[in-house]
Amino acid sequence: MNLLYKSTRNADKTVTASEAILKGLADDGGLFVPTSVPKLEVTMKELAGMSYQETAYEVMKQFLTDFTEEELKHCINSAYDEKFDTEVIAPLVKVGDTYHLELFHGATIAFKDMALSILPHLLTTAAKKNHVKNDIVILTATSGDTGKAALAGFADVHGTKIIVFYPKNGVSKVQELQMVTQKGDNTSVVAIHGNFDDAQTGVKKLFEDKELAAELEAAGFQFSSANSINIGRLVPQVVYYVYAYAKLLQNEEIADGELIDVVVPTGNFGNILAAYFAKQLGVPISKLVCASNENKVLFDFFQTGVYDRNREFVLTSSPSMDILISSNLERLIYLIAGADAQKNNELMAALKSEGRYEITAEMKEKLADFVGGFATEEETAKVIADTFSQTGYIMDTHTAVAAHVCKAYKAAHADAKKTVIASTASPYKFSRSVMTAIDPKYDALEEFALIDELNHLSGVAVPNAIEEIRNAKIRHTRECEVADMKATVKDILKVEV
Ligand SMILES: *Cc1c(COP(=O)(O)O)cnc(C)c1O
Repeated sequence: MNLLYKSTRNADKTVTASEAILKGLADDGGLFVPTSVPKLEVTMKELAGMSYQETAYEVMKQFLTDFTEEELKHCINSAYDEKFDTEVIAPLVKVGDTYHLELFHGATIAFKDMALSILPHLLTTAAKKNHVKNDIVILTATSGDTGKAALAGFADVHGTKIIVFYPKNGVSKVQELQMVTQKGDNTSVVAIHGNFDDAQTGVKKLFEDKELAAELEAAGFQFSSANSINIGRLVPQVVYYVYAYAKLLQNEEIADGELIDVVVPTGNFGNILAAYFAKQLGVPISKLVCASNENKVLFDFFQTGVYDRNREFVLTSSPSMDILISSNLERLIYLIAGADAQKNNELMAALKSEGRYEITAEMKEKLADFVGGFATEEETAKVIADTFSQTGYIMDTHTAVAAHVCKAYKAAHADAKKTVIASTASPYKFSRSVMTAIDPKYDALEEFALIDELNHLSGVAVPNAIEEIRNAKIRHTRECEVADMKATVKDILKVEV
């Protein structure tokens, strides 16, 4: 059966999976969603014996039906290889009484690698299938981790260029160094004078700019997106929730069919939406716990049914979640409205003009699978310190937001189900926040001394991604105002300004 995709803002037009991946964002500014969610064709018992790559094939073939078996397996095997520092790709580690699904064993030590190591392969395959002649320009806004993972994935990929915009003062030192030292003739990195929402809104505007699209076309370029709005990112993220359940079963931690809870540290709502799709696919998941930092717009939304971005933007120790406009939520809104593009359009128009919208009571009822929670900066630091002193395990700040929300949820509800926490970054990526959470005295150390101290405390080897930037040359120094993003892109591509 051929699964088609629709824009969340257009009821009529359908596209294939490969067309949706190529475009990234629909022409009308909407996000592509599958017209139905498929079911797994294999049992959990069968999946329990499978490798990550085999699991990926079983999941992805259900969503990307216009890719051949050969194409899909080639993409999967090119992505999930020695770039990961463990053969199991996504280890499930028991910490206290929860299971941490470590999604940070790829090239850039954050969970974005799970999808961005395969996206370039999916995209170039999709370009071939659709006879695309233009060079594809990947335009990306990043809160820190997507940028580097996308740069690493697309560097020197023939027929592509990549331009990354990041908020100048909104990322960690390691995140910034990782990006500005990126090699590859086709890579560009730009610091904008604004926050992540400015970067994301600016990029979306460029996607919707018809005049710019025509100018690019004339110059032999077309845009695509590596942000989590691309279904080529969402689908690979479904895989690890299936894999985690299968591993719990294989390790006899759960019985077949036993319900589990999943807790996800959330920013743009991509990772947790993938968990939602995994549930629809047939994984026995009970609650999807959405964990926010102090930018708790999603927590408030799940409490009240009102999404309201009119609030102060807080810079926290979990910068990859410092987001007030969670793009992927639009997909959920569309689905709980009953795949109603018009209703979704109304709400998104309100978000654009007033910065807020309210869903109907009927829509709210369909959110019963979700629970919202948030962690303050103090709570985030405390759970890092407590877990270290009780178990010796050191987690990063984003994972810590989820760990705190998990504890609070379990304490408040009689829910004894086994719980998987999506562990989204290596602590090495946020070493200053992590180390000062354990002891404020570490703040006196400079970046790489901190990293060596973290190595000493945790006994976990310093990842290659960190060693690489110790002495790497800075290659990207471009900065721009939010208003100049269009001119910057044209300048980079050498299209007439
Ligand atoms: C991107 C990111 C998140 C948030 O994921 P979303 O899919 O945007 O909700 C959480 N933690 C880390 C480390 C990230 O890089």
